[in-house]
Amino acid sequence: MSFAHETKAGLVALSETMKRDCCRRAELYGILCMSGVFTRQKCKLVTSCGELAALTIKWLGDLYSTTGNLYVTEKKSGEADERSSNKITVPQKRELERLFHSFRYEPDEPETSIKREMLRCPNCAAAFIRGAFLSAGTITDPEKSYHLEMSLTSEALADDFAALLSEQELEPKRMTRKNEHVLYYKDSESIENFLAYIGANTAAFTIMNKKIERGLRSDANRIANSELANIGKTVAAAGDQIAAIHTLMQSGELERMPDELRQTAMLRLENDDATLSQLAALHTPPITKSGVNHRLKKIMAWGR
Ligand SMILES: [Zn+2]
Repeated sequence: MSFAHETKAGLVALSETMKRDCCRRAELYGILCMSGVFTRQKCKLVTSCGELAALTIKWLGDLYSTTGNLYVTEKKSGEADERSSNKITVPQKRELERLFHSFRYEPDEPETSIKREMLRCPNCAAAFIRGAFLSAGTITDPEKSYHLEMSLTSEALADDFAALLSEQELEPKRMTRKNEHVLYYKDSESIENFLAYIGANTAAFTIMNKKIERGLRSDANRIANSELANIGKTVAAAGDQIAAIHTLMQSGELERMPDELRQTAMLRLENDDATLSQLAALHTPPITKSGVNHRLKKIMAWGR
């Protein structure tokens, strides 16, 4: 099952256990309102999620005594669990009008606003938003990237929905794609918040775990990179020192240096990949790391 389908199937299972009628009505309203075709002439929901299709038909009957038609078509391509397309309509014009009336729309009121009267108890908004996600939303597998979006056909409805989300402190980002108005979340934290808010706890945890896993991996990379950078610095410094010592040798300056400096210079030449601590230990008698550092600086500055 795809991550999106799994998330939606989990949400439908949660919705089926919901006791309060006000919340179930709010959720069904969210499902239909965000389905893309929601007017008094025509109401249509197309989804690859069979569980959502079954829930919608059941609730239309249970909550509004309305008959929904379901057509299932099988597609040849796509992921195995996304191959059936479920189309739900409310074919009877009279039933559709009654439904709009029940959703508190005035007879000539446009269908592009969210009727807040439908959100009656403190949990109704979450139920409505869950319905909207089930109907118009999708989420990318966190293995690939962090992305959750809801795509609407009406700009006015997208505006109103964005406002409702912001009221719940779930302010979405906006973009348009062809004729679609897309509300989306791109960072893992807002996706987690959204999922937790609508009750998709398993999906929220999956994203959280993925983030922790990635964090650990990037910490490990950062450490490895900084070690590499230090090695790179050591090699570059040694290269400069060796070049300077060669020049001093050719000019005869090396012979004029005090014995202790000459010893350090020769050890540097012979051990071009040694660290300062290793060089220090090679001296007779051994000297300290800062002693080596001090002598190398003197060598580099010799004759300047
Ligand atoms: Zn409620």
